[in-house]
Amino acid sequence: MKKVALLFVLSVLIFTCKEEGKIIDSEMPKVEQESPVTSIKEELDKANNLNINYDEDAQFSIVIHGGAGTILKKNMTPEKEAEYRAKLEEAIRKGYEVLKNGGTSLDAVTKAINVMENSPLFNAGKGAVFTHEETNEMDASIMDGKTLNAGASAGTTNVKNPIDLARAVMDDSPHVMLSGKGAEIFAAENGLEIVDPSYFYTDRRFNALQKIKATEKTELDHDDKQAFYDSDIKNSKFGTVGCAALDKYGNLAAGTSTGGMTNKRWGRIGDAPIIGSGTYANNATCAVSSTGWGEYFIRAQVAHDISAMMEYKGVSLEEAAREVIHNKMGKLGGTGGIVAVDKNGNMVFEFNTEGMYRASMNDKGNLKVEIYEKN
Ligand code: ASP
Repeated sequence: MKKVALLFVLSVLIFTCKEEGKIIDSEMPKVEQESPVTSIKEELDKANNLNINYDEDAQFSIVIHGGAGTILKKNMTPEKEAEYRAKLEEAIRKGYEVLKNGGTSLDAVTKAINVMENSPLFNAGKGAVFTHEETNEMDASIMDGKTLNAGASAGTTNVKNPIDLARAVMDDSPHVMLSGKGAEIFAAENGLEIVDPSYFYTDRRFNALQKIKATEKTELDHDDKQAFYDSDIKNSKFGTVGCAALDKYGNLAAGTSTGGMTNKRWGRIGDAPIIGSGTYANNATCAVSSTGWGEYFIRAQVAHDISAMMEYKGVSLEEAAREVIHNKMGKLGGTGGIVAVDKNGNMVFEFNTEGMYRASMNDKGNLKVEIYEKN
């Protein structure tokens, strides 16, 4: 009986406490709840490393390319060479300044590529090559090594700077890759600069197309790669542009922009907008941008393969790049090269062609601009 009485007293006590708790809860002054929008923004800021202090002396570096191919000194005038060197230097300095001032590798990559896209010298943006139908169809991609987020666009005809479109796809859409008309609508809706397609006309690229078409008519011995046959690739230079960078926060990024291959047909898309082929970045390993015969770079998954070799085999960037360019991709029959930066700021150029327009700069401001295999 005593036990029953004790149990009764205990239950009454517990019930009373609970009720008091409720009252106390509801009388508590309201603490402003953090809105989910704010916390998402904070997360994004964190992901983008904004408002995070960096070490002033932190190492950073940047590499660019303006295409690889049969680039021989004997085919180049001193004036033309000086023009290429000056533009490469302007582009890399643009990216370097971003990094030096504490900007992100993504911004450095975008800005450096913009300079080359706005020049008629390179096969990207203003200097894009012509398709068989005498149009210019551009591809681009960008990747953030910290988040593994990526953006790409393919086959656009009126977006002045395709790398900006790739960046907008990454930053402002839930997708990774947009193509054709849809990509152009997205670009316009996101306030990117839209130009009349005639902006991309250059005599030099148009004449190159006419030359290839004439050759095509007379050549009967095309191999089974006829759809992609391009004498420019085999016999003269070509010039996709790309950039890889490491910023002061230790974040890697890479981007690539191109007009593709002269005389391409049927909505052909190359490696440049394909994440893992033309572009790849991963803070755990490296950032890579490719240039060359796109079909082979897709089949060999060049950019990702270099990163994967580093990740899974523990080899250096230099070793991985050499293996992938010369053995894996090269042995398939492909030509071209890559520029890359690893997580420690080591920079690598690797190509199996006679030349590659390229430049590099480290945090000490040491500049290298090179064109031929042996400079
Ligand atoms: N990789 C590019 C493509 O195949 C061409 C280039 O690098 O110049 O579209």
